[in-house]
Order: sequence, then structure tokens, then C-alpha cells
Amino acid sequence: MSHAANTRTPYIVCERVTKSFGAHQVLKGVSTQFCQGEVTVIIGASGSGKSTLLRALNRLEPHDGGRITIAGVEVTDHEATLQQQRCEVGMVFQQFNLFGHMTVLDNVTLAPRRIRKTPRATANAQALQLLERVGMAAHAHKYPWQLSGGQQQRVAIARALAMQPQVMLFDEPTSALDPEMVQEVLEVMRGLAREGMTMIVVTHEMGFAREVADRVMFFDQGQIAHEAPPAEFFARPGNERIAAFIGRMA
Ligand code: ADP
Ligand code: MG
Repeated sequence: MSHAANTRTPYIVCERVTKSFGAHQVLKGVSTQFCQGEVTVIIGASGSGKSTLLRALNRLEPHDGGRITIAGVEVTDHEATLQQQRCEVGMVFQQFNLFGHMTVLDNVTLAPRRIRKTPRATANAQALQLLERVGMAAHAHKYPWQLSGGQQQRVAIARALAMQPQVMLFDEPTSALDPEMVQEVLEVMRGLAREGMTMIVVTHEMGFAREVADRVMFFDQGQIAHEAPPAEFFARPGNERIAAFIGRMA
């Protein structure tokens, strides 16, 4: 559990956030806060709206009602704050999404060079440090197709960190991996949590939730059905649906 969570400074605030796709309301009024240094694990059935919430937080998919503020700045469809908020919020996807025609090093330096205008030499040096941190420095000059899934995902984490985000969103980061590669990615994420990174993690890895989360949140049909610190969450799941879900994941 991260120490900084004790400070309880809300970094992201969601107030009655809604989102519909056509007639289908996918987020039905989500209200919660994500504090600095806090690790939140989100679990819940497929289709319950977990990815949609993360995508709204990262401005990949605009919400259509309620309010989201990041560091006090409201997330709207205005371009003015888009770049800034994209820099503050890093995201890691299930499918890695590395640029296939670029080396590992270029994948990690691209955004700092393009968006932060970091000189190439500086960007390279910073990228190598990040690659060291995720155990991938020796592979800096390889292409994604030369790497295993676990290695690609570790590069994707380094790439997100290269923008020096204040919060990291992970959307099922280990779901596409062969079982033997899951732990190497979770280990990198544990390291980030220990260093005090604010993290919101959608995952089915209950062990990770128990060990690393400050708070576990259960999503059900577009709403937060239950949330609690992991010890309490797993001891008293709140209702039968949650207990059954945890049982299937264990
Ligand atoms: P989860 O991540 O919990 O599995 P999602 O947030 O991906 O759930 O999806 C919630 C619901 O929204 C699903 O029914 C899904 O089909 C629907 N949905 C998600 N994205 C879109 C989209 N771009 N267009 C239409 N429907 C979508
Ligand atoms: Mg999803």
C-alpha cells in the first residue's frame, strides 16, 4: 500500500458522470474521487463500463453528463486543456498499442520529442532510464515484433511514463498476456505503486488487488456498486453478485 495515500488529496474528481452510446447508457452517474498516491483497482463484469470510465478520464471518449476534474481543471470538449490533461494522465492498454515500425527507444521518446519538444539526446537519456526501470534497456533498439507480449507491455508502461504523468490508468494490462508473462508486468506496476504513483487499474488479478490496492471498486452496469479497502472488500464483498464475481476470479 502506498504511503502517499494518507495525504488524501483528491486528484481526479468524478461527479455524477454519465455516458451513453445511442440509447445505451453505459455510465449511469459515477461519483468518486481518486487521491494522490492512491492505487484504485476496478473490477466488474465485461460490459459494465470500466473502460469507458478510463477513456473518459483520459479524454479518449467524452462523457456526456456530470463533471470530471483533474487537478482542479474540468475535463470538457475544449481543445485548450486537452494537451495538458493528456500529459498528466498516462494510459496503458490491454493490447500494448506500440508503434510497430519504430524501435523501443523511438516508441518511448516520440511523445516527449513531439509534444514536450524535448531534444533527442535528452529524450533518449530519459527513455533509457525508464527502460532500465522496466527491465527493458537491453532491448532499446529492437522492434516490437521482436519482443514477447510481457516485454511489449513493459515498454508501453515506459512510454506512458515518459510524459511524466501525475496518474497512470491501466486497462486490463495483463489480460492479453500468456500466463507466464503476467507477473513481470505486475511487478513493474507494484514498483510504481511503491514509488507513490497515483494509479487506476482495471484488472482481473485479484492477488494484485489484495496486495497493492488502497481501494477496490466494483463496477456493475455503469455504476460503482461497492468500494472498500481490499481487506474489507474481500472479507465482506457487499452483496451476492460481488461475492459470485470474486469467486469466479479467484
Ligand atoms: P468494460 O470495460 O467494463 O468491459 P466498456 O466500457 O468497454 O465495458 O463497455 C461498456 C458498454 O459500452 C458495452 O456494452 C459496450 O459494448 C459499449 N460500448 C463501449 N464503447 C462503445 C462504442 N464506442 N460504441 C458503442 N458502444 C460502446
Ligand atoms: Mg474494458
